[in-house]
Amino acid sequence: MGMGDDDTAARRLRLLQQELLDPWRMPEDREGSRSARPASRGQQLAHSPSPIHLGILDHMMKTRAEAIAHTRAVAPNAGPVPAEAAAVYDWMRQQTAHLGEEQQQTRETVIYRQGLEHAIAMGDTKVVRPHPCPACRCWGLEWDSGRQRAVCTYRPCSDERGMTHAWKLAELADHHVTAKKMLKVNAT
Ligand SMILES: [Zn+2]
Repeated sequence: MGMGDDDTAARRLRLLQQELLDPWRMPEDREGSRSARPASRGQQLAHSPSPIHLGILDHMMKTRAEAIAHTRAVAPNAGPVPAEAAAVYDWMRQQTAHLGEEQQQTRETVIYRQGLEHAIAMGDTKVVRPHPCPACRCWGLEWDSGRQRAVCTYRPCSDERGMTHAWKLAELADHHVTAKKMLKVNAT
C-alpha cells in the first residue's frame, strides 16, 4: 500500500529537532565550509541562540499548536498530547481514527502540509518539486521564499490576468492527498 509519506512529517520534525539541539551547527556548515568559522565551539556556546535556531523553534511551536488545536476541534475528548514532538502525528491519527473519511483526509492534509513546512524551515525548498502544478500538471514548481508560494515555471501556465500560477503549501498538500486517495480508490 502507498503508505510512503505517512511518517514523513514526523521524520522531518525529528531532523528539525536535531538541528535545534545542535548548538554547534552554524549556518555555514550547510555550505560545507567548516574551516571558515572564526569562533571556537566554546565561544559559540556563550552566544545567544542564532536567528536560525529561534526561527526553527518558533516554527516547531506553531506547527505543534496547530496540530493539537486541529485535533481537539474535531475530537474534543482527545487524550493527553505526547511530550515527544514527532509523536504528535501518531497521536493525531489515533485520536481521530473514529472520524469519517472526509475528516481523516483533512487531517492527513494538515500532516502532509506540515511535513512540507518542516522541510522548508530546514532550508530544503526542493521539496515542492515532486508536486505537479495543480493547473498545468507539469513538474516545474520552484519555491519563492518572498511570496511563500510554489511558483510554476512553465511559461504558458498563467492565470486569467497573465500571472504565473503560485500555490500555497496547503494547496499542494490538498492536491497531493486527494490524488493519493484517488489512486487508492482506483486500485480497489
Ligand atoms: Zn503550471
